[in-house]
Amino acid sequence: MTAVRKVAIAGSGVAGLAAAIQLAKAGVEVDVFEAKPELSALGSGISLQGNALRVFDALGAWDDIRDAGYAFAGLNLRAPGPDAPIVAQLPDVAAGGPDYPSSMGIPRADLARILLEHAQRAGARVQFGKKITGIDARAGDAVELFVDDESAGEYDLLIGADGLNSTVRDLVGIETKPQPTGMGIWRTFVSRPAEVESTELYYGGPVYIAGYTPTGENSMYAFLVEKAEDRFGTSDEDATRIMLDESRAYGGPWNSIRADLEAGARANYTWFTKHIVEAPWNRNRVVVIGDAAHSCPPTIAQGAAQALEDAFVLTELLVARDTVDQQLWDEFHARRLPRATAVVEASVQLGQWQIDGDRDADAGGLIFGIGKKMAEPV
Ligand SMILES: Cc1cc2nc3c(=O)[nH]c(=O)nc-3n(C[C@H](O)[C@H](O)[C@H](O)COP(=O)(O)OP(=O)(O)OC[C@H]3O[C@@H](n4cnc5c(N)ncnc54)[C@H](O)[C@@H]3O)c2cc1C
Repeated sequence: MTAVRKVAIAGSGVAGLAAAIQLAKAGVEVDVFEAKPELSALGSGISLQGNALRVFDALGAWDDIRDAGYAFAGLNLRAPGPDAPIVAQLPDVAAGGPDYPSSMGIPRADLARILLEHAQRAGARVQFGKKITGIDARAGDAVELFVDDESAGEYDLLIGADGLNSTVRDLVGIETKPQPTGMGIWRTFVSRPAEVESTELYYGGPVYIAGYTPTGENSMYAFLVEKAEDRFGTSDEDATRIMLDESRAYGGPWNSIRADLEAGARANYTWFTKHIVEAPWNRNRVVVIGDAAHSCPPTIAQGAAQALEDAFVLTELLVARDTVDQQLWDEFHARRLPRATAVVEASVQLGQWQIDGDRDADAGGLIFGIGKKMAEPV
């Protein structure tokens, strides 16, 4: 006996699909409504640490994900300059325990495809081009759902896994929203030079951080983190030019990245955000998880991992319990709020140190070791 028999999920990101897999495997009737017309995953690649990999194992998706990605341990720090010398080799924490690699990179499109296949195989109905537009939660133990302004019937629970600009969060009147942290990021998906076997970060030079993460034998994603600017309307041509210009201070594997950019690899841009919804994340039979509930800059690469943990803990409780009661919500919040809050705060702090170091350097004052002006382009 599970606490719910019929659940609707808003969003087919990692949080929504992970929740769908777990519930459907337990025999719950699951409808996933995804506003986009098809599965799409912008942003090229993603780093997943051991705690995320452990959730994939619990979902039954780990073998497929391991085969599609590139596992590694450790983090290299390099300095700007033509030779891009490695200045530190740092060990990683095995956040998922000894049975999993400490990190892996994977193309976002492969991750999305694998989770979708597992959700459908488990029996979840996933519908694309279906936007959740309204709810009526007056009945205490059910919620009526409106999809594209038409009633889609009643559910025992609606899980709002609908991302940063969550409609579900708005519909239940939660006012906390993502705020920009002051940093923007350029990303591109390119080929992997043989010497890149783990994430490598460059501090100093014209941007806050330059880096890349391998995602497969032949692929990796590369990124430049800079001061946030209104660059959202930038043409493809200008986006490529900006990545080329801003990366010229970095040698080593960046020479190969620039060659791929010149050959047509696309660059995309977004801002870093931060927010955490205070408890409770639910209003009766509606709950928000993943980026709908919290966001953080990817300075410790934990956003998706935390979204997966939300989905795992929530569905574990829904499957183990007989009823959705206050005790269930209390346990959910006790297990998720402190941990998600710690991750958001740590991620924001890392970024803020760099922004502060940059500001202090501009003012001629104290310079943090990772401040942007610490090392000018060589
Ligand atoms: C630049 C950058 C780099 C990052 N790198 C990492 C990293 O390396 N490692 C890591 O762990 N995390 C990383 N993250 C964070 C990670 O991408 C997110 O935390 C994660 O993807 C959130 O997943 P989600 O399922 O909560 O939301 P999403 O993936 O945003 O999915 C939400 C879905 O809901 C749909 N939707 C929205 N509204 C509705 C509606 N009304 N009805 C139906 N569907 C709707 C959307 O179309 C979307 O498909 C990064 C984030 C950024 C910005």
